[in-house]
Amino acid sequence: MSGSELAALARELRARAELLDEEEWQALPEAAQQRGPALGAAEMRSEGLTLTRSLEGLAAEVEACRKCPLGAQRIKPAFGVGSPSARVVFVGEGPGYEEDRRGEPFVGKAGQLLDKILASIELSRETVYIANVVKCHPMVDPSDPEKRGNDRPPTPEEMAQCRGYLEAQLDLIAPRALIALGGTAAKCLLATEDGVGRLRGRWHDFRGVPLRVTYHPAALLRDPSHKRDVWEDMKELKRFLEAA
Ligand code: SF4
Repeated sequence: MSGSELAALARELRARAELLDEEEWQALPEAAQQRGPALGAAEMRSEGLTLTRSLEGLAAEVEACRKCPLGAQRIKPAFGVGSPSARVVFVGEGPGYEEDRRGEPFVGKAGQLLDKILASIELSRETVYIANVVKCHPMVDPSDPEKRGNDRPPTPEEMAQCRGYLEAQLDLIAPRALIALGGTAAKCLLATEDGVGRLRGRWHDFRGVPLRVTYHPAALLRDPSHKRDVWEDMKELKRFLEAA
């Protein structure tokens, strides 16, 4: 199938997205992904060379960080991944089992779903930036890092200790928009106790950057009924980026 045929297929699937069931949602971005990274990815990487060096310096600080107990418990920090000049940054809560081993955010099943969600609005892991509010794996039982199902949300104290790294990342990248993935990230960034259901559907402000809240992909895997809400949030993000 040619590139233009694939693009037409992706457009048609996107138009039908509100009616998709879970299996079709999974299939939708695969068509888009076959087209490769969105245009401009290489240019954005090139423009971001200086910032990349600065982000690399920050990543080295995180590698050595022991400001909170998570630093001594994790295997690898998951600093962040994507374009250093991304127009949108997606922020999750913290690394899990897979991320701890790979040293990269969102690489498990939830990460694969995030890749598909990005592709549905013609974004990719290469053109956005993905990070978490804490860089090291929070575990229920840190004495058994090989145990599955050992993940937990970061505590307010851990998020407070790590927040400076995320703020420095955002200052370097200077995105046009932020997406908080899930309630933990939203609470950390917006200093609120409200849940995703109350926060989504409107733009917020994080240090001058417009921020939108949506469901974490892991929550979507547990409860696919939120799929339509996430799709609405992604359509609004696409509209915002096209107008910005
Ligand atoms: S979670 Fe953040 S503050 Fe805590 S040790 Fe890791 S990098 Fe440092």
